[in-house]
Amino acid sequence: MQQTRTSQAPLYPAERLLLGPGPSPVPLRVLRALGAPTLGHLDPQYIAIMDETCELLRQVFRTQNQLTFPVTGTGMAGMECLAVNLIEPGDEVIVGVNGVFGTRMKEIMEGCGATVHALEAGWGDVFTLEQIGAAFERHPRARLLGLVHAETSTGAHQPLDGIADLVHARGALLAVDAVTSLGGHDLRVDEWGIDACYSGSQKCLNCPPGLAPVTFGERALARMDARKTRVQSWYLDVSQLRKYYVGGGPSRFYHHTAPINMTYALREALLIVMEEGLESRYARHQQMHQRLRRGLEALGLSYVPKHSLYTLNCIHIPAGADDAAVRRRLLEEYNIEIGAGLGPMAGRAWRIGLMGHGATVRNVDLILAALRQVLGRG
Ligand SMILES: *Cc1c(COP(=O)(O)O)cnc(C)c1O
Repeated sequence: MQQTRTSQAPLYPAERLLLGPGPSPVPLRVLRALGAPTLGHLDPQYIAIMDETCELLRQVFRTQNQLTFPVTGTGMAGMECLAVNLIEPGDEVIVGVNGVFGTRMKEIMEGCGATVHALEAGWGDVFTLEQIGAAFERHPRARLLGLVHAETSTGAHQPLDGIADLVHARGALLAVDAVTSLGGHDLRVDEWGIDACYSGSQKCLNCPPGLAPVTFGERALARMDARKTRVQSWYLDVSQLRKYYVGGGPSRFYHHTAPINMTYALREALLIVMEEGLESRYARHQQMHQRLRRGLEALGLSYVPKHSLYTLNCIHIPAGADDAAVRRRLLEEYNIEIGAGLGPMAGRAWRIGLMGHGATVRNVDLILAALRQVLGRG
């Protein structure tokens, strides 16, 4: 039993094993970095740390884009940052809607005054090049295509290779949500021609929530520079943010106080990613996904999407199992968190995240053993 805390008692949160859709397990190294002395946000030492963080982000995004930095806020701030900067009222855009996050992208872009043509697919399905081509045939004035690389609500993995050629031939931009793929799945911003991309700190990067890495390429910059209207958001206006993040040297411009200690944590988390190496990291995620998949299927459990992510495993709740009771027992008896179904999948699916530091043999075998017990299948 947990003790009731009084207002003077120190915090004593349980050390859960976070195997849900995020946040993911945070390595001690990252937690220690959080506790380093707070510098001023214009201190040359801090500026150097921020520059290193942005450089590490370029490596992890696999891009040369100068305009690559962590937006203050969680993944949704990254989504909103792309939308408000790249869209002007009256623009036509196409958004792939096959889950909760595609739906949110559509709503946010509508909020920016765009006419959004939703390209729909079933929950768990992904979009083919032919479907995307046909959408541009129907909507030749579309100026942007928004896609979710890793749809965390369904576990579907959207292939991105080859899409940019089609999008660019139409004079449009390719904007990608990589919140649950960056640092876990192969993602090549430059090679795949992605014009703008955002992620979140607490998924495959294993940092606490609070920062949203973003990157904008030349085409996206040109689009922003050609705007006729002001960006609706003051806080997320990249034309102002870039004066701080890529201002260079003493010309750094105060916009808002950067979250200093979170930057330390993100830098540490990115160092861990690069120490392992991107290719080895993708391979590890693939292997751990396959190990989990074999185990789940042996228990008679099946996947929701045809093309599953490695980082997020969305499975059907088996007949007769009590959704909430199973998750409560995993939490109370095993200290393991997994995710419930989101949106229309609520009560129908469980989501098991194997993200970065969480994607280990030990964790895979532990969740399989716990599920076997809790489901009474062993
Ligand atoms: C988690 C997630 C987000 C939102 O991130 P928050 O950090 O919760 O704001 C956006 N898109 C996808 C695909 C996600 O998985």
